[in-house]
Amino acid sequence: MVATAWAASAAFLPKKPRLVLAIVIDQFRYDYLLRFRGDYNSGLAHLLEQGAVFTDAHYLHATTVTAVGHSTFLSGAPPSMSGIIANEWYDREAGASVTSVSDPATKLVGGIPNAPGSSPHRLLVSTVGDEVKMQGADSKVIGISIKDRSAILPAGHMADGAYWYDPDSNNWVTSTYYRTALPDWARKVNDEHAARQYIGAKWLPFDAKDDSATPFCTMVAGTDLRYCGGLEATPWGNEMIEDFAERAIAGEDLGHHAGVDILAVSFSANDYVGHAVGPDDPAVRDISIRTDRLLGKLFDYVEQRAGAGNTLVVLTADHGVAPVPEVNQARHMPGGRLDATKVADRITEALTRRFGPGKWLLPGAATMPYLNLKLVSALKLDLGEVERVAAAAAGSVEHIARVYTARDLQSGAVQQDAIGRAFTLSFYGPRSGNLFILQEPYYLFDTTGTSHGTPYVYDTQVPVLFLGPGIKPGTYPGSIAVNDIAPTLAALLGTAQPSGSMGRVLSEMFQ
Ligand SMILES: [Zn+2]
Repeated sequence: MVATAWAASAAFLPKKPRLVLAIVIDQFRYDYLLRFRGDYNSGLAHLLEQGAVFTDAHYLHATTVTAVGHSTFLSGAPPSMSGIIANEWYDREAGASVTSVSDPATKLVGGIPNAPGSSPHRLLVSTVGDEVKMQGADSKVIGISIKDRSAILPAGHMADGAYWYDPDSNNWVTSTYYRTALPDWARKVNDEHAARQYIGAKWLPFDAKDDSATPFCTMVAGTDLRYCGGLEATPWGNEMIEDFAERAIAGEDLGHHAGVDILAVSFSANDYVGHAVGPDDPAVRDISIRTDRLLGKLFDYVEQRAGAGNTLVVLTADHGVAPVPEVNQARHMPGGRLDATKVADRITEALTRRFGPGKWLLPGAATMPYLNLKLVSALKLDLGEVERVAAAAAGSVEHIARVYTARDLQSGAVQQDAIGRAFTLSFYGPRSGNLFILQEPYYLFDTTGTSHGTPYVYDTQVPVLFLGPGIKPGTYPGSIAVNDIAPTLAALLGTAQPSGSMGRVLSEMFQ
């Protein structure tokens, strides 16, 4: 009887995939699927035509930056639970700035000898990969990206490896957290010195017939053409990631273990390009089209290696991006640039006037200042009052929309609209600053280009696409959170949900 009941319920569960290909495009707004749809004919087109397409997916947190998006992706946890509050922050205990993954207890492996390494030690929660691993199945979990945080955070604590690109050595690297030497397949990639072929190269439009077309940028500095920056800021950066992913699939024999394997790949080049030129520049369209083609190449390779119908693909982005303020101004839209020093000065002036002179602010981002708590306690001041004075000063700067204090967020004394909730979910007491400063929509603290990091829709709305066994293709217009991806994967893989997951299972797309 028990066996029959089990068999009956198992019949409703879809066939389990052998490989999960979990993809992030770094800085890819949802509307890039709409605006460039006619140009896609490969990987993205395949996902849009054959997959489950969620058209109203947003991040729940306000701090829409790379580390936070990548930590949310396969954990489902907001910063208030994951502890990943930003790309970098001021660590009060260490008395220094740290990154989301910097780890002085580790060394880099494969790059400059003895360079400091990175690990997921600041991630407080589990990922889908961790849950699969803790179940004890024979599974491999690998993370790959140009950025260390984007390789490490989705893969989790128990990953077999995370690999990223080290621009100092032009090598793919890992850290002693994972292993003491690169695997042979990765060392072989480095020995090929692929980066050398791009010295002096020009990035031409994807459909250029010959090199008479105007390039988007060049790898040679000091010419009339825009200098690309590094390889990571060109489509070749993504091509190197895709190639490395193929090598990892072959080298680690992904898709051929008793348990499910998970490969998390984050394409970083889109972000570097987007920061430099903004979402309305033709270069963003070009790299989006190239990403479509590259994904097609990766999907073909995966299908060939893991066998048709054995791979579950999920794709999202870690955040969107704001338009370039000058572009917006020219088209009669709001926006502008703000001076971070002005905000800090205004806070220091107000605190000095009220409580006396001192070094009131510690190093930190313009939007999340840290107060000098030693000074606050030396003067025997009430921290809540100091925060209130600082917040009022910051809020008096033109084009600052809201300022929350740590005390407000801890006590729940914030406006409970979507933005108040987003900041509450972005706050983690032991790590966060004393103030959260939010500028008006379309205003940036950056002096050039554009950026992201707010709870406004251009930063929060991203694609969420699923394709593979058990997924019912179609368009799903209901509102979902990117946080829903992790618990959904857990359900599809038959494993426990990650420990900080606050999403729901997207069962509407289950077959
Ligand atoms: Zn990013």
